[in-house]
Amino acid sequence: MTYFEDGTPYRYLAEFEDGSVNVGWLDAAHPYATGEVPAAFAERLVELARDPVNRTRGWHYCNLCPRPAEPMPPPITVKSDAGEFPVGFAEIRVEGKNGARYAAPDMIAHYVLEHRYRPPEEFIEAVVQQGESS
Ligand SMILES: [Zn+2]
Repeated sequence: MTYFEDGTPYRYLAEFEDGSVNVGWLDAAHPYATGEVPAAFAERLVELARDPVNRTRGWHYCNLCPRPAEPMPPPITVKSDAGEFPVGFAEIRVEGKNGARYAAPDMIAHYVLEHRYRPPEEFIEAVVQQGESS
């Protein structure tokens, strides 16, 4: 996975640039915040990752998991009420307060659930609020 620090401008794929701020582009080489997250946040984040945007042709493996020895390991999957689904192919977008927009990899659901990643508070609030208003 390509690493971007939380809060930096999204510039990963030029065709998807939309003024968003990066969240959750983790890499094993860089420390990241961990901790408990609200259950409503985790549930909503999984829903977003199940229906992502900006699908790319390639896919990423989780940089924090031990990489399987096989050259083409199966994709990382996330469990949801609607079944298990693969991540590492796409992105999610979340609207926050005051016109803020966040860009995260769909893998962020895996990071939160399996690696205890705790994104910035403003992102957590934005995800929970988006769930309430839809
Ligand atoms: Zn992982």
